[in-house]
Amino acid sequence: MRVLAFLDGSLADPEAAHLRVDDLGLLRGDGVFETILVAVKKPREMRPHLDRLARSAAMLDLPAPDLDGFARAAQAVVDAWQGGPEIALKLVYTRGVDGDPEGKPTAFAMGLEVDEKVLRARTEGVSAVTMERGFGPELAERAPWLLLGAKTVSYAMNMAALREAARRGAQDVIFTATDDSVLEGPTSTVVLAKERTLYTPPSTVGILPGTTQYALFRGAEKAGWSVKVEPLSVEDLLRGDGVFLTSSVRKVTRVHTLNGTELPDSTALHEELVAAYESEY
Ligand code: PLP
Repeated sequence: MRVLAFLDGSLADPEAAHLRVDDLGLLRGDGVFETILVAVKKPREMRPHLDRLARSAAMLDLPAPDLDGFARAAQAVVDAWQGGPEIALKLVYTRGVDGDPEGKPTAFAMGLEVDEKVLRARTEGVSAVTMERGFGPELAERAPWLLLGAKTVSYAMNMAALREAARRGAQDVIFTATDDSVLEGPTSTVVLAKERTLYTPPSTVGILPGTTQYALFRGAEKAGWSVKVEPLSVEDLLRGDGVFLTSSVRKVTRVHTLNGTELPDSTALHEELVAAYESEY
């Protein structure tokens, strides 16, 4: 099932054509997006997602998005949804048609079914490999035009990394910087659990600030965990009590194997962290 809505709240046929072939989102990957999990008709972390959409748009010098319009479109999708219990809700915002004198962005919301593979990863966990991203942790600040940490629609590199992981017999990727510090997954934030403390790298190293990680840390703190945002090495991941990849649709996913090494069994920790995350719903 798919549902498509525009910012005025109107619905449209998701199987019909609506974008022009000269849309810069298509021609140059020049646009931004969000993916939000809707569970039992309620979008999770809606405000942080809208704020992050505005932040990404600002990084690309796009006009400030109409966040009320996006909220309206999102609600229209949720109201019209007749599919499964969860929706992967995408908000998309591109620079619009090439050469448009008004520079009107393209904007819409679309609801999709949650992928089977994602549902399996939630319960079974994943094996991951580290792969280099080719930049140092200081580059984001020095070179803002690289858009590190913006959620742009140019995810071709992220998808290529996942295919390379599959060739190496793994299901997911943890990107590393040139100093071997941990960055993020192609579609997730890295969280390490060690001695009742949760760690994640700071977004200043050029990664996307994760809404799921943030909600998890909030919930975990209430449940008595300490939380720290600080640089992590691959060695830290191997020596911890558990490594997790967090993202909106996948929620909190356990990494059971890293670079071919089986990590300590974190099944019980995973259950605890899922409960902490769900307590924030
Ligand atoms: N990092 C990247 C590159 C992502 O694409 C995503 C989400 O898809 C995340 C992190 C996790 O963000 P969130 O938890 O807000 O979904």
